[in-house]
Amino acid sequence: MLISDFQGKIPSTVEELTRLPGVGRKTANVIASVVYDLPTMAVDTHVFRVSARIGLTTNAKTPLAAEKQLVKFIPEEVIPMAHHWLILHGRYVCLAIKPKCNECGLSTACKFYNRMKIK
Ligand code: SF4
Repeated sequence: MLISDFQGKIPSTVEELTRLPGVGRKTANVIASVVYDLPTMAVDTHVFRVSARIGLTTNAKTPLAAEKQLVKFIPEEVIPMAHHWLILHGRYVCLAIKPKCNECGLSTACKFYNRMKIK
């Protein structure tokens, strides 16, 4: 398909990439962002959880809903980098089961943290 439909080149748009067998939206967004530096946001489990906790997304029930909210509000030029910020923050600080809120530099701005403080 790469040869027949895309002249042997990896396409750059999410729409084209997701036409390729085995390429889902998350993978397509990663390729568009990392390879082509386009303002697309791949939402994995870390991005989904961290965005919701901080309050960057509101009531997003699916990765696609989260993606749409994130790309709407994050400035285009930092979206490819923001993807990595969110993943790394989720991997090392805002852990799924036990987030390290006391070590987190975002606590004052974090919706989850501030809600917990009130309780
Ligand atoms: S304060 Fe806690 S919940 Fe909020 S982003 Fe930091 S680690 Fe995650």
